[in-house]
Amino acid sequence: VGRWASLRNGEARKVLWAGCAGRRRTMRSSARASVRPRAGAVCASASFASILFAPSFALDCAAAAFARRELCAPRGIPQASPPPVHEDVETILFTEAQIGAGIDRVAREVTAAYRGTGFTVVSVLKGSCVFASDLIRRIPIPLELAFVSASSYGSGVESGTLEVNFFPAESEIRGRDLLLVDDILDTGRTLARLVDEMKRRGARSVRTCVFLDKPARRATSFVADYRVFEVEDLFVVGYGLDFAGHYRNLPYVGALKRECYERPRSPAGR
Ligand code: 5GP
Ligand code: MG
Repeated sequence: VGRWASLRNGEARKVLWAGCAGRRRTMRSSARASVRPRAGAVCASASFASILFAPSFALDCAAAAFARRELCAPRGIPQASPPPVHEDVETILFTEAQIGAGIDRVAREVTAAYRGTGFTVVSVLKGSCVFASDLIRRIPIPLELAFVSASSYGSGVESGTLEVNFFPAESEIRGRDLLLVDDILDTGRTLARLVDEMKRRGARSVRTCVFLDKPARRATSFVADYRVFEVEDLFVVGYGLDFAGHYRNLPYVGALKRECYERPRSPAGR
C-alpha cells in the first residue's frame, strides 16, 4: 500500500507498508511532491510523518491503528454485520457461527465413517435442504445426492399424518449405502418410517444424520447415528426449518414466539 506522507518543507515520501501492521519500509527514492498536499491530507499524514523517525514500539502502535482504520475497513466495501433478529423469533438458539462449527464436527465424523466406500446422502425435503447443502460441502470424499420428500400434515406445531411425496429412483437406493439427512428428529416417526422404506426398497445400509435432536418429544425408540445439536422442547425455525412455510431462510435457529403459532392458522405441510 503506497501512501504519500508529508515531511517538513512540503516534501513528500512514499511509504510502503508491507504485509502486516508493524512492518514498514520507506521508499526514499519516490518523487518529491512539488505541490503542497491538501489540508485534509496534511492532517492525515501528520502522524505518519512523525512515525517515520519514531522508536519502533511507537511505529508498531501507529501502524496498527493505521491498519485498523485504513487497511482492514477500506472505504466502499461493506462490512458484514450480524443479521437483525426476526420480530417473530423469541431468542436465537444457534448462531451462524455455532452452526458452522457444529456441522464441521459432524462432517468429520461422517467422512471418517464412509471413507473408502461410495455412499449417497438422501436429503429429506424440504426442511433439511439447507443443512444438507452445507454438510456435503464439508465432506471431501465421493458421494452422491438424492432427495426424498415427506410432509407431516398437522395443525400448528404438532406432527400429524405423514405423507411421503416422492422417493429417489430405485437405482439410487438399491444396493447403496444411504445417509438420510433430516432437519429435526422430533417424535421420530418420519425417520423411522423412511429408514424402513429405504431398506424395503433394497438399500444396503441406512444411517441417519439430523441437524437438531429434540429427545423430549420422542414417541419412538429411534436414535440418530449423527446429530449436530440437541435442542429443548421449543418450536424452532430458521436454517431450513419452517412454520407454515415461513422462516426457512433465517441464517440462524431461533425459538418461535408462542403468539405466532398459537394464533389460529389453516393446516400446513411441513
Ligand atoms: P418427527 O416428529 O417425525 O420426528 O418430525 C417430523 C417433522 O416435524 C420434522 O422433520 C420437522 O419438519 C417437523 N418438526 C418437528 N419439530 C419441529 C420444530 O421444532 N420446528 C419445525 N420447524 N419443525 C419441526
Ligand atoms: Mg422435516
